[in-house]
Amino acid sequence: MTSPGGGTGLDAGRTRKLIADVARSVIDAADELTALDAAIGDGDHGENMKRGFEAILADLDALSAMPAPELCRAIGAKLLSTVGGASGALYGSFFLALAKSLPVEPSRASAAAAFGDAVDAVRARGKSDFGEKTMLDVLIPVQRIFATGGDVVAIRQAARKAAEATIPILATRGRASFLGERSIGHMDPGARSSALMIDAICAQFGEE
Ligand code: ADP
Ligand code: MG
Repeated sequence: MTSPGGGTGLDAGRTRKLIADVARSVIDAADELTALDAAIGDGDHGENMKRGFEAILADLDALSAMPAPELCRAIGAKLLSTVGGASGALYGSFFLALAKSLPVEPSRASAAAAFGDAVDAVRARGKSDFGEKTMLDVLIPVQRIFATGGDVVAIRQAARKAAEATIPILATRGRASFLGERSIGHMDPGARSSALMIDAICAQFGEE
């Protein structure tokens, strides 16, 4: 893959489509994310994420022309300043850490390593780990599959299943943990938004 425009392994046109598709998939799911958060949180996850990704769409021209690390830094900064809530800080940390580790011309191995550093940044910021009914329940298994050579089909499937797997578990981090046993039986909103973003990214990389 060559990258005359973006440094994402995609040209500037495909980088633009990638950013736009990820943003639209989150924006289109705002009501669903809000409903999930209304069940076990405070009902703002959809609006929070929509605000962040609308800000990203508003800057699409400039973002599409950036090399991969700069693009990730700009997305992280935007999410930090616009999303709010726990997810704004956590997704912001994710993309800022990705920006630090990602080379301008990432190989699969260096992209997987950078993704691992970004997941570690969420762990550190959230003081959280796998199995606590958060976005990490999707990000961690996806990182493992990415690092061990899984293809986009396997990654998409794993992300969807991992979000669904948060339904029967008890939340021990974030707002949902305040509900105790009543958090059982609902999908975690951040796990769902992570799965949606991963799905949209994989859809783009699957189109060769
Ligand atoms: P808030 O909880 O502040 O209202 P959001 O509703 O936007 O923020 O985001 C909630 C999501 O953030 C949760 O569904 C969960 O996935 C994620 N989250 C919250 N706290 C943590 C944490 N400590 N570690 C990892 N993820 C977390
Ligand atoms: Mg919330």
